[in-house]
Amino acid sequence: MSTGTVAAPPPTGLAVIAPVKYWSSADYTRIVIEASAPVRYAPTLLEKNGDQPRRLFIDFSQSSIPPQFRNPLPIGDGLLKQARSGQFSSDTVRVVLDIDSLSDYKVFSLQDPFRVVIDVHGTRQAPVRVAQQGSDGNVPAAPVAIAKTVVAHRQTAVVLSDQKKRPVGLTTVSLRKPSGKGELTLAQQLGLGVRKIVIDPGHGGKDPGAMAFGLKEKDIVLNIAKKVAKILKTTHRYEVALTRSKDVYLPLEERTAIANTQSGDLFISVHVNAHPDKTIGGIETYFLNLATNAEAMRVAALENATSTHSISELEDILTDLMKNTKIDESSRLARFVQTNLVNGMGKKYKARDLGVKQAPFYVLIGAEMPAVLAEISFITNPKEAELLREDRYLNRIAEQIAAGIVAYVEHNQTAALHY
Ligand SMILES: [Zn+2]
Repeated sequence: MSTGTVAAPPPTGLAVIAPVKYWSSADYTRIVIEASAPVRYAPTLLEKNGDQPRRLFIDFSQSSIPPQFRNPLPIGDGLLKQARSGQFSSDTVRVVLDIDSLSDYKVFSLQDPFRVVIDVHGTRQAPVRVAQQGSDGNVPAAPVAIAKTVVAHRQTAVVLSDQKKRPVGLTTVSLRKPSGKGELTLAQQLGLGVRKIVIDPGHGGKDPGAMAFGLKEKDIVLNIAKKVAKILKTTHRYEVALTRSKDVYLPLEERTAIANTQSGDLFISVHVNAHPDKTIGGIETYFLNLATNAEAMRVAALENATSTHSISELEDILTDLMKNTKIDESSRLARFVQTNLVNGMGKKYKARDLGVKQAPFYVLIGAEMPAVLAEISFITNPKEAELLREDRYLNRIAEQIAAGIVAYVEHNQTAALHY
């Protein structure tokens, strides 16, 4: 029997590839491609060849892409011209990124749902006007983009050899010169250039986060984040961006993309902890690194909405993933935030100090600025849950997060005087 005009379902056993999503800024683009199931994928960079532009393509094995998703997606952000998705062979989907400028890129995958993230760095080319039909019928010449020569200096590729068993993979390729425009100044490295702070209230929308005693993590952290933003803006004159200012759902990789494309100088993700043992309480602040204990791993799995198994797979590639991230600065920022949260709450609200910890949080992966995640209380602890209902307590938490950020910046400024 004919199925008429109804599109044929994807061949069984193949993962379905979703349309490309992207976020752009002057020198950075994040691309995310979701699949309906974990699949093997392989990135390849092709240099310009005749009429063929320079391009980066990703092949997804055992995959199909519905016809309606096969249209080219114009990007035109100065780094990438467009993304083209197509059925390359009966069981391979190819996503091609046509390049205007690329100095380095990273490819990695996240779980639940499976998605591949491509972080691209480059230098935005002079804007190319789309040639328009002139009034005299001639096509005026479009301004020519002057391409900067990028010297291929270092090239590494890390791809897990057995990706079938371990669908988590990573490719890092750096074509960046060891010094030059892309390098940070000492002042930037020391956090002296802190101008804009990105605050990320965890969860939102369909994802309530942790819940107990009628409280939802997503509501509490949005409330706190807005308070922190207000303090940093009005008292300390920082620019502040919130990843969300409403009760909306945002995927974890989008939060980092916002921080990067907004050129944030610091990134603080705010969360409320949970534990099956309701006697457990206190405050802890994390930065991105390999988990050093099972408890940190459990919290990361909770916040990543994955199994701890996915976390241990992620750990295999994390060392490579973090090559250019600011671990030292992030751990220092975490220390300042944690110290202020624990010591500055006053007698009434004094909480247990669970310390600065490290774990592989999705939301911190790829952040280009010092980035931390604060777990400000346990929603599952009856005493702390009561406090979380108090506006005065939330104010205090917000004040101390802000104080921690300010102390971090001031510490760096003082340290710089000794150089
Ligand atoms: Zn959370």
